[in-house]
Amino acid sequence: MLSLDELLGLIEKYKPNVNKDIIAKAYAYAMDKHSNQKRASGESYFSHPLHVAEILVNMRLDEATIVAALLHDTIEDTTATKTEISKLFGENIANLVDGLTKLKKLDLISEKAIQAENLRKLLLAITNDVRVLLVKLADRLHNMRTLNVMRKAKRYRISLETLEIYAPLASRMGMQDIKEELENTSFKYINEEAYNAIQARLSQTLEQNKHLLTRIGSKIESLLAASQVSATIKRRMKEPYAIFHKMEIKGLKFEELTDIFAFRIIVENTLDCYKVLGILHSKWAMVPGRFKDYISTPKQNGYQSIHTTIVGPNGQRIEIQIRTYNMEEIAEYGVAAYSSYKEGEAFKELCVDNSARVSAWLRRTLDLLAEGDSPEEFLEHTKLELYQDQVLCFTPKGQLISLPQGATVLDFAYAVHTNIGNCCVGSKVNGLLTSIFTELKNGDEVEIMCDNSAKPDITYEKFVKTGRARVAIRKATKAEVYKKYCTIGRTKLEDYFALYGKAFDIKVLDNIYEQFSYKNVDSLLASIGRNELSEADIFKAIYPNIDEKKGKTLSFSLRNIKPLLRKRAAYLSGKNYPLYGIEGKINVNFSPKGIVPGDAIIGVLDNDKKNILIYPTKAKLPKHKKKQLVDIMWHDKLPVERYRAHIYLLVQNQVGVINKISSVLTTNDVSIFDVLVRSYVLGFCKMEIVVDVWNLKQLNFVIALIRELNIVSRAYRLYN
Ligand code: MN
Repeated sequence: MLSLDELLGLIEKYKPNVNKDIIAKAYAYAMDKHSNQKRASGESYFSHPLHVAEILVNMRLDEATIVAALLHDTIEDTTATKTEISKLFGENIANLVDGLTKLKKLDLISEKAIQAENLRKLLLAITNDVRVLLVKLADRLHNMRTLNVMRKAKRYRISLETLEIYAPLASRMGMQDIKEELENTSFKYINEEAYNAIQARLSQTLEQNKHLLTRIGSKIESLLAASQVSATIKRRMKEPYAIFHKMEIKGLKFEELTDIFAFRIIVENTLDCYKVLGILHSKWAMVPGRFKDYISTPKQNGYQSIHTTIVGPNGQRIEIQIRTYNMEEIAEYGVAAYSSYKEGEAFKELCVDNSARVSAWLRRTLDLLAEGDSPEEFLEHTKLELYQDQVLCFTPKGQLISLPQGATVLDFAYAVHTNIGNCCVGSKVNGLLTSIFTELKNGDEVEIMCDNSAKPDITYEKFVKTGRARVAIRKATKAEVYKKYCTIGRTKLEDYFALYGKAFDIKVLDNIYEQFSYKNVDSLLASIGRNELSEADIFKAIYPNIDEKKGKTLSFSLRNIKPLLRKRAAYLSGKNYPLYGIEGKINVNFSPKGIVPGDAIIGVLDNDKKNILIYPTKAKLPKHKKKQLVDIMWHDKLPVERYRAHIYLLVQNQVGVINKISSVLTTNDVSIFDVLVRSYVLGFCKMEIVVDVWNLKQLNFVIALIRELNIVSRAYRLYN
């Protein structure tokens, strides 16, 4: 087992100023926590996290990743908690370890044989930090290396999972070496016969071609030396699984494979790559259609190299890969190498509280992961995008529930069962008591609390995203909904009659409803409320001779509005709300961060029912009782005026940033009310822009435009 000093020595080789204390603390902590556990092999359990850390050290990763590797099994398997780890190692590391604990749940679920494809996507969706994936891959790699002690059935299941989930993931992250090792070890356990057969053929072929390969190798060497190109030449043989895969996919026989052997020529710089290519092509004939220049057009996972196939002295085809040392490292370590080269700074500072910067980097790398260049990868990518509209959560028993993005606890309850949704009164998300209106995140574990006598409220409809939940709520609140539409229908008629200076008396409908083929007055009112029937038609039926054009326009005076909180004394008079659902003399206020036409909204009454505060349903509501919630709808004829909204921005702290953002806003007809700079963090600046917009569509549009600016790393609307 690696001693602490040995581990530190390995890290110091690439990072002389390593934070030794934190590594030492993690080493001691993990060793202590796992002290009375053994692995299936009988070894002390701690050897496992230590090996995982060593794999990552060999990939030259930062302290946070190494520490997370040492701690990766502590929360799940020992008495350690996230809170404790956060206290000892900081929140960053606690989040990494917590991420790994969540991924561990996947292993449990996969035992219940859920589709590999979904699991792979879930893995990406849950992970917001690429380092979690790096540790997970190293964890899996070590488990595969030590799989022989497991029972046969378990070996098979884990190997299959590795082949379907983790090897493609490694590939997507550009980690060629890890991908190959994962593939070959799994292949061995899944189809030992085929593995052995291919291995035997490979050694036989190698034996047959030994002399030839040596000859070509030394010929290349002398050609390069004559042109004064210094290079490292490696001979490579295709891996057993890659051969098997190719034979299967293309239906080829072993003899028909042409690229079993390859030479890799590694040089100092890009110019030399092309020089080498020229030298080889002038000596040997190249196979047309086999030449690929991934230097000028790198693969999406960052891979760069030139591939060509030459025809050797006896007509054999031999693949040649030409690349620089940097490219070689990226091909081997993928994302990990990419990070240390191109974003060395960001990576170095990962231990510091520097989430802004890191998140920009992570976003790029995760984007990288999400893209691919082959048709299969493209397909995969499209599916991934589809998948990213989804949120995957667990029941306490580990059942996976898939919901659309934005879904709440209530949607979850209805997805489990309609009855559960109907009597859902509370919930625990990840063990904490949470409102049933809370939006769910990927990987949340949701426990629903039920009261059999409870019924959903009509207002709940605004807090659900799924059709299933909406239909169920409507069904359960049918009578209530009907009443609500009747009221809205009546308000609409009153408003319309008022336009022509006429008072509306409900009795006039007694002579009218049959004419419009309704069963009774209420069903006619409800129909108007639902916009199925126009109030103008009713008016016309009653006053056939009144010229429509003479009607006054609806006017809401929303001038003189105090910023932030719009207090509307003008509305005290009664009906002139731009909203439906409010009756009587009530003060109407908007939530502090504003509401915008198009938002789903809800009102919260105060205790003496004198004031109502209108919130977007996406906002966190103040503490309230169920009876304080009022269902509010936007008036369908809104006065033309602006509404206030707050936008949060994380931007690079540069000259002219505010100018760039404000020009996007003003050219799109958004007025800026205020710009509040909240804080500066290492080259970034957090700010809040208060804007006045016409509607939600316009607001979303400008937020999307702002996100496109390269100086902006985050932009979203604030609801609270
Ligand atoms: Mn582990």
